[in-house]
Amino acid sequence: MSHDIEGLRRLARDPDAPGEGAFVENGVRLGGGSFHVVAGLCAVDSKENVERTFAALERAGVITARAGAWKPRTSPYQFQGRGAACLPEVFERAGAHGIKLVAMEVTRAEHLDDIAGALDESGNATSVLVQIGTRNAQNFELLKAVGAQSRFPVLVKRGMGITLAESLLAAEYVAQAGNERVCFCLRGVRTHLGEPQRNLVDFAHVPAVKRLTRMPVCADPSHAVGPRVRSKEGLDDLHHVAAQAVIAGADMLLVDVHPQPEQALCDGPQALTLDELPRFLADVAIARAAYEERRRAAASIPAAPAGDAAVAFEALRRRFEAIDATLVALLAERMDTSRAMVHAKQALAHPIVDPAREREADAARRALGQKLGVDDEVLERVFASVVEWSRRLQGG
Ligand code: PEP
Ligand code: MN
Repeated sequence: MSHDIEGLRRLARDPDAPGEGAFVENGVRLGGGSFHVVAGLCAVDSKENVERTFAALERAGVITARAGAWKPRTSPYQFQGRGAACLPEVFERAGAHGIKLVAMEVTRAEHLDDIAGALDESGNATSVLVQIGTRNAQNFELLKAVGAQSRFPVLVKRGMGITLAESLLAAEYVAQAGNERVCFCLRGVRTHLGEPQRNLVDFAHVPAVKRLTRMPVCADPSHAVGPRVRSKEGLDDLHHVAAQAVIAGADMLLVDVHPQPEQALCDGPQALTLDELPRFLADVAIARAAYEERRRAAASIPAAPAGDAAVAFEALRRRFEAIDATLVALLAERMDTSRAMVHAKQALAHPIVDPAREREADAARRALGQKLGVDDEVLERVFASVVEWSRRLQGG
């Protein structure tokens, strides 16, 4: 396990080409230095809840949602999802709220046609990230079917009772069938040793998956931890576990959110409320910034001197390319955040331009720049452009 995984061909990492498994769907870049929180309903129950959830995501600047239509459930008496019937309202409301990508699980190949048809009907108001649930990680015919189509990217969830290598091969099935736009999602593994949480959290595997494969890596703290237990400090197990994945470099999080968790038909007890979402996102942003800082610090440590100058030269070139791609992805993220800020400022009747706040942010950037040895003048020029651009986006 520490080296290659036998049979992992299309998705194995090329150590000289970091981030090359990144892809863009409907304008959303997954992997390659980007970061997204995919948040929303574990299962779609009502149009009203879709509307309320997507509106909250828009206010929070989130452009990637989850909305389950088909739910594989342990008991046949449990809610099975509304199926294709809910697709029109999900896609229409997603379009109305600027949601670019909706993650939804399929349990049969025919669901791909249902999704494609409803998306066409909606005028392609959004797009879909097709999810393969943990229970289907070894449903090989389904894996081949989602791999045989190229319209939708796929999120493969780790099998709950199989090894990591076996789960990665589930993703390889998709790629082998032709669709290499695959992300991998950790969600905990099934064992009583995970108690009192729903599953034993496996987010220590974030760096392992990134090292072994080129897939963007997602983590699902909601299904890993299970029912929420509110903590006094305001940081529940859900927050801590999400932070573990993010600080270790996860490219995406998948998290359950519901306007009224106590009335949800599926997994309500593990969902964040709409009011809790901004705080969760703020906490995640802290973990992401910490990851970035750790990565920068590690990158500034010189690599071991290479014997061959040409090899070192090529490696450094690749590093430039990877860093530049990350800079571009971060600029895109900065722009999305600036747009989201418009809503937040409007809600609080806060002025678009706040000179005192700008001075404060500028001082913090300079202090960090000095600490990390970034040239003052370069920093000033870069941020003059970024701040000017952000103001423009906010109409200031
Ligand atoms: C889900 O994400 O809705 C889900 C059912 O998760 P899992 O397949 O990981 O149990
Ligand atoms: Mn669920």
